[in-house]
Amino acid sequence: MLNESIEVLKGVGEKYAESLASLEIRTIEDLMYYFPYRFDVFEVKPLAELVHDDKVTIEGRVVHDPSLSFFGKKKSRLSFTLEVENIAVKAVMFNRAFAKKQINAGDTVTLVGKWDAHRLQITVSQYKKGPAASQAEIQPVYAVKGDITPFRLKKTVKTALETYGDQLDEILPENYLNAYKLPDRKQAVTSMHFPANRLALKHARRRFIYEEFLLFQLKMQLLRKWKREATDGNAQQYDKQQVEDFIGSFPFPLTNAQQKALAQILNDMQSPYRMSRMLQGDVGSGKTAVAAICLLASITAGKQGALMVPTEILAEQHYQSLCELFGERANITLLTGSVKGKKRKEVLQAIAEKKVDIVIGTHALIQEEVTYHNLGFVIVDEQHRFGVAQRRMLREKGLYPDVLFMTATPIPRTLAITAFGDMDVSVIDEMPVGRKEIETYWTKENTLDRVLRFIEKQVAAGEQAYVICPLIEESDKLDIQNAVELHQQLEAFYPSEVKVGLMHGRLHTEEKDAVMQQFSRNEIQILVSTTVVEVGVNVPNATIMVIYDAERFGLSQLHQLRGRVGRGDKQSYCILIADPKGEVGKERMRIMTETTNGFELSEEDLKLRGPGDFFGRKQSGMPEFKVADMVHDYRALETARNDAQEIIEQGMLDTNPAFSALKRILERDAALTDKLD
Ligand code: ADP
Ligand code: MG
Repeated sequence: MLNESIEVLKGVGEKYAESLASLEIRTIEDLMYYFPYRFDVFEVKPLAELVHDDKVTIEGRVVHDPSLSFFGKKKSRLSFTLEVENIAVKAVMFNRAFAKKQINAGDTVTLVGKWDAHRLQITVSQYKKGPAASQAEIQPVYAVKGDITPFRLKKTVKTALETYGDQLDEILPENYLNAYKLPDRKQAVTSMHFPANRLALKHARRRFIYEEFLLFQLKMQLLRKWKREATDGNAQQYDKQQVEDFIGSFPFPLTNAQQKALAQILNDMQSPYRMSRMLQGDVGSGKTAVAAICLLASITAGKQGALMVPTEILAEQHYQSLCELFGERANITLLTGSVKGKKRKEVLQAIAEKKVDIVIGTHALIQEEVTYHNLGFVIVDEQHRFGVAQRRMLREKGLYPDVLFMTATPIPRTLAITAFGDMDVSVIDEMPVGRKEIETYWTKENTLDRVLRFIEKQVAAGEQAYVICPLIEESDKLDIQNAVELHQQLEAFYPSEVKVGLMHGRLHTEEKDAVMQQFSRNEIQILVSTTVVEVGVNVPNATIMVIYDAERFGLSQLHQLRGRVGRGDKQSYCILIADPKGEVGKERMRIMTETTNGFELSEEDLKLRGPGDFFGRKQSGMPEFKVADMVHDYRALETARNDAQEIIEQGMLDTNPAFSALKRILERDAALTDKLD
């Protein structure tokens, strides 16, 4: 059986099994699915086609017996001349003195090694007596560790395939295999390890890419379906007229994109299933305005609403702007960690008695002590800080509100349909008219003086600036040190009437608030800060964003930082101070200066960094695929998504026996039930 312990294999003892377990290989099937991470291809090419410094394969006749010399301690060098295509090629081999006896004048040998095109010389890493195989030889290369050698692992895989390969039953329905011309499972697994040729490998990979995507998409679609069905009759019958009136009270008309997103959300609210929707839109695209309208709709349906944000600063900002926007239309209250004692008691009581319509706050909003009268609508700002645990907390309180996740991190379409495939997505992809584009410049540190003079000029004209301080790898403490030093430097540089403030993560909440207050009242003109200002801070009078070490940030983060300016009607500027060493870094800086469109940037970022890095480490719950790559194999991803949709919609998992293997795999998947939380 494929799910038997690896120890049943010939040649695998207890100790070796333990080592294999460190690679997550425990069963026969694990082993078979432990695919090589790359292949070495040995293929003889004409000398003229060999590329300098590449790993190459050549075949030739040994002209004279090798000469052996020793140097250092136990080091040796074996060299000989080889005749290839009537040209003399020099071969050198290090620390393989024993090969002297095996290689003799007149022998035909095949050598693999690094090619030096200038000296016509190969530094041999592998050799074989006799001519090369007539066809390219493809050898798997496995990731190994500890006492597992590549050679032994290869042998173990081979044994497993020979003994148990026939048990690799098909799991994909035949019509899909036929439609996409994919090899069956046994053939594909075999080719993933020991491909007969390049084409066989390519098709095997295609199959697994599709298989991985299809299973993943089936999971997502199932979750989505279950969530929709998990209804408690949560239909919110809102008052259309009041909603219209509210929109009419805004000093601006909604953009088309805002209207479309709003219609989608209101539609969900009206329907009985629980909404789980993400609202994506660039900084300043007007998400909060849309969210406010939905909150009002929910109130007119007799429900309470909550707005949850990651920091207290943001909670206060939202509180102020929503109070202005709603006026008499709603009772709004703030509930954060700093609301304490008697005041807190009062707030909690007001929420429980429904004297409050909208509660704004941090994670405190869903803590145990908070009892809602009738919570119908929850908005979560910056969705990736709100996770499974929070959703569970809501559920445990017996609350099943419609949930809207708002994020200003533009998530590329590719990622959105994978990572958030279980959510509905609305996108605001249009900015309100009349916004001025932020002018972005990239400069090296030696022009700092000019940058500082420029800030001085703008400050004299009544504007303000952020200076994001240099980063030091992995060290929060040193970053703060940097901020402190930079702050001193700037204070010394500018005349005393220009006030320079300092903001970093180690300040207490009250200190941070005080600094932000001063900055927003223009009592501080220049704010030196670590990246703590990244999320959501709104000071429309700030028009300059200077970012040190810009090459160390991802594009999305740079874009977030840049979004702190350009919030008023004045022309704003972003200055990136960076001296990137590599091409990728330079490309990033160029892209930043060329576009202010968050979605474009995020697509570029994804291309430059790959999906694994996009959200930073695993925490984001990004799916991991063995063979597939979300960016590169995007087309297959869409195909799989469409197929999965069809399979779920038509209920084929339950009714069609061709899908029973897929169904079994899905039922086994613990992640599926976990995710429901
Ligand atoms: P986001 O939450 O997406 O960052 P906000 O909703 O805070 O954006 O909007 C940013 C600014 O633009 C606010 O000052 C808001 O009043 C204004 N705004 C929102 N929608 C529009 C619109 N359709 N036309 C003009 N200004 C708008
Ligand atoms: Mg609903």
